[in-house]
Amino acid sequence: MTLAEGIRRHGFRKWYERQLLKSHAHLVFTFLCLVGVFAALESMRGTLGWSERVEAIGTTVLCAAAGVWALRRYLQLLQRAELAAHQAECPQCKAYGRLDLLQSDATGERVTVRCRGCSHGWRMEI
Ligand SMILES: [Zn+2]
Repeated sequence: MTLAEGIRRHGFRKWYERQLLKSHAHLVFTFLCLVGVFAALESMRGTLGWSERVEAIGTTVLCAAAGVWALRRYLQLLQRAELAAHQAECPQCKAYGRLDLLQSDATGERVTVRCRGCSHGWRMEI
């Protein structure tokens, strides 16, 4: 969901909250993948057969790849949310996150917003 869509549908604060929840869900998934990596490595200790080892190595690689993807996604989502949050304060009256969407570009990541308190307009870009 782009910044413009998020502000239009939910308002800035709800969009920001959802971005944080989504990013931290990816962090939890990263942790679960790490548990999967250690469990697969632990299962290799007692096995002698090559097919069991191949299966454990495959599981390890799969969990590690999913964990790296989830960690990257966590950092991307968190960075976007924080970048937007730093621009969500009205430059004139310092109200935080109380804004309405006026217009956005085609990507939806550059928006012009207006403060609900003092009607001052400014641009946000993530
Ligand atoms: Zn204002």
